[in-house]
Amino acid sequence: MQESRSPAHPDQVLATFPDLQAADVADAVAAARAAAPGWAQLPALERSQALNAAADAVAGAASDLTELGIAEVGKPRAEMAAEIARGVAILRYYAQAALDPDGATLPSADGRSLLMSRRRPRGVAGCITPWNFPVAIPLWKIAPALAYGNAVAWKPSPAATAIARELAALLATALPPRLLALVTGDADAGQALTQAADLISFTGSAAVGRSVVVAAAQRGIAAQAEMGGQNPAVILPDADLEQAARIIAQAAMGYAGQKCTATSRVIVVGDSAAAGEALVAAVRQLPVGDPADAATVVGPVISEAAMARVLDATAEAERDRGRVLLADDPVPEEGYFVAPVLVDRVDPSARIAQEEIFGPFAVILTARDDAEALRIANGVRYGLAASVFTRDLDRALRFTAGLDAGLVRVNAPTSGVDFYAPFGGVKDSSVGPREQGKAARDFYTVSRTITISPSSAG
Ligand code: NAD
Repeated sequence: MQESRSPAHPDQVLATFPDLQAADVADAVAAARAAAPGWAQLPALERSQALNAAADAVAGAASDLTELGIAEVGKPRAEMAAEIARGVAILRYYAQAALDPDGATLPSADGRSLLMSRRRPRGVAGCITPWNFPVAIPLWKIAPALAYGNAVAWKPSPAATAIARELAALLATALPPRLLALVTGDADAGQALTQAADLISFTGSAAVGRSVVVAAAQRGIAAQAEMGGQNPAVILPDADLEQAARIIAQAAMGYAGQKCTATSRVIVVGDSAAAGEALVAAVRQLPVGDPADAATVVGPVISEAAMARVLDATAEAERDRGRVLLADDPVPEEGYFVAPVLVDRVDPSARIAQEEIFGPFAVILTARDDAEALRIANGVRYGLAASVFTRDLDRALRFTAGLDAGLVRVNAPTSGVDFYAPFGGVKDSSVGPREQGKAARDFYTVSRTITISPSSAG
């Protein structure tokens, strides 16, 4: 059996669950597969109504889910409540999207036949999700999968199993029996799901995502993977420095930096000393502490290992002769808390400026001009989110054209994207079609081209 514990109060066990093995996972997928045709054949309006009922169930349990999320993944109260609201909005959005046109007609070659393309579901969608958005990420996979007529087998992160159980139970109240299977466990269960499902949607780290995509390719099934980032925020000399620092501080340190879209590199063109001071001041404004407190912005990191990763990165920065501007502000003693870390004088090629640390840790890099800033911004293997701060429209346009990232934002944080807009990265951050919004239909359905000709020449 495995356990999920609270990162703020590690003595508190929130869930005990089995690490399901291949045979159990195959059974769960088989049960979902048996429920799939009935669901796919329902009128779209009935699937739409079911998703709206699921949204009502989640909305009705919002305050319990918020408490559970705060306890289990240490997400600060305001962000956790906002995530539940986002989850409800996603369910309602896909309840409507289920009623969108499901194909197109085309002129036929003979002028008499009916030629059309129509979309239909693919079967059992295997959804593998991380712990850091325990409600929104699962729902932006599960909701479109269901809306377009698929069954779902969902493997949540072991660190978010209590909230996953609660969410799955709420969704089940609105769905036919066995249409949604919850598969608990970690790597073994995830691998087994990749071997059993009809398509796989993964979100998590780059190494695991790549292995999932390779396994899916070997089976010839559709796969998408959203993975890590090393997201830059570029401050140009004409930017409103105080506002930029406020936005970047929040994007780098909010939820202890545990977002795939968190800012982890601040690239300053010009005076990096002034930018460093402004950033230190802005980070110090962010309350660090118990995620249950309404004011908290920076809570704990998820585990002891995550804490060690941040402390190691700080030691590595010092060894590399970086200058640590911020690292030892007070934090609570119980739980996996680390103080926000800001480091400057770091070489852009250093490991801590190249790889994801996934904690409240950011480096400040200096560039002589815009061209060098762009080179540094793009000089990592990831390409998820990037932002640029400037008042100059022409420079903003040049950066938006040149940044290698799936999400490009001007005078806005790298973190956060509207739930109805396409989401995904480039390079090692992403494989396969985009998630969210209308883009999700491309993944959860397959298009068939149908020709219906008259039965006689007359
Ligand atoms: P992780 O890769 O450790 O785990 C993700 C999921 O994969 C979990 O459910 C885990 O149990 C499962 N898993 C582990 N090994 C597996 C295997 N061999 N085969 C199949 N499944 C397996 O990631 P995490 O620690 O849960 O989440 C943090 C990571 O997720 C960070 O790298 C972060 O950047 C990334 N992330 C990306 C996005 C995005 O949309 N790009 C969003 C959130 C988080």
